[in-house]
Amino acid sequence: ILYNMVQDLKGNIRVYCRVRPSFTSGSSNAVEFVGEDGSLVIVDPSKPTKDGRRQFQFNQVFGPTATQEEVFDHVQPLIRSVMDGYNVCIFAYGQTGSGKTYTMSGPSGGSAKDLGINYLALNDLFQIFYSLTEHTLEIRSCAGDDGLTLPDAIMLPVTSPSDVLRLMKLGDLNRVVSSTAMNNRSSRSHSVLTVHVHGEDESGGKLRGCLHLVDLAGSERVDKSEVTGDRLKEAQYINKSLSCLGDVVTALAQKNTHIPYRNSKLTLLLQDSLGGHAKTLMFAHVSPEEDSVLETVSTLKFAQRVS
Ligand code: ADP
Ligand code: MG
Repeated sequence: ILYNMVQDLKGNIRVYCRVRPSFTSGSSNAVEFVGEDGSLVIVDPSKPTKDGRRQFQFNQVFGPTATQEEVFDHVQPLIRSVMDGYNVCIFAYGQTGSGKTYTMSGPSGGSAKDLGINYLALNDLFQIFYSLTEHTLEIRSCAGDDGLTLPDAIMLPVTSPSDVLRLMKLGDLNRVVSSTAMNNRSSRSHSVLTVHVHGEDESGGKLRGCLHLVDLAGSERVDKSEVTGDRLKEAQYINKSLSCLGDVVTALAQKNTHIPYRNSKLTLLLQDSLGGHAKTLMFAHVSPEEDSVLETVSTLKFAQRVS
């Protein structure tokens, strides 16, 4: 194998949870405890137990003080398995404002140390390429997988992480963004960065790996955004595609024989990179504030279901 630094990953689906820092200092938080063993305790006042506490368990939980590098340390083995010919999907799931884009891209206008998984992953892959001078390697970034027609998608060769950053900025500009009551710059679309890696193993055999980095649209319920007309249709469409994604990943986690890929464009697009020889990582993002607790519970339940 060309480059074998894959850690033993338990199963092909992992779920990490990330809690962003609180914005409202002083007010109470719903997130009570973040454990190094992957446990998370929240206080849910709607829950009819004595103290309202609920515990969730994930492969990893990152608290408000976790840095981008700490998070990436737990993602890197997966990124490197792309070099061994695996297809890998990394999703950021959660309500608007919970930190999905922060994890995947970094804060807008942030400094170099805040760059997210997209950049760190590409940087890692490029560094590996340039340390393998005997091999011809090619990396490409595009909006869709080979074989599926995306009318407006373009595939462009890139030679450095900054090339990729430039493309991602362009993609961001094209992303449909509309105002909702939740957030006046709420992302109402999924953003998919796909990297195709072509290489050779030591005996000259072809290696192909694919990495999808997906910043999903906000998972908040439709009624909370108080939208009507086209915006309502859009919100329903987003909720449907997210629940289809949940169904697919759940079916994979349960090793079902039927995987309902065809129920949404998103899962159809990512079909070759979900299940089979592929590895999947879902980041469940939550906001710690008490007034977000209903969305937090819904995100944690979704994430628990797919793990
Ligand atoms: P989303 O993409 O889920 O809508 P964002 O990533 O835009 O959410 O995060 C909302 C705000 O919170 C942004 O201003 C972002 O910079 C900030 N933020 C999110 N996560 C973190 C974090 N882990 N540390 C510091 N700031 C964060
Ligand atoms: Mg976002």
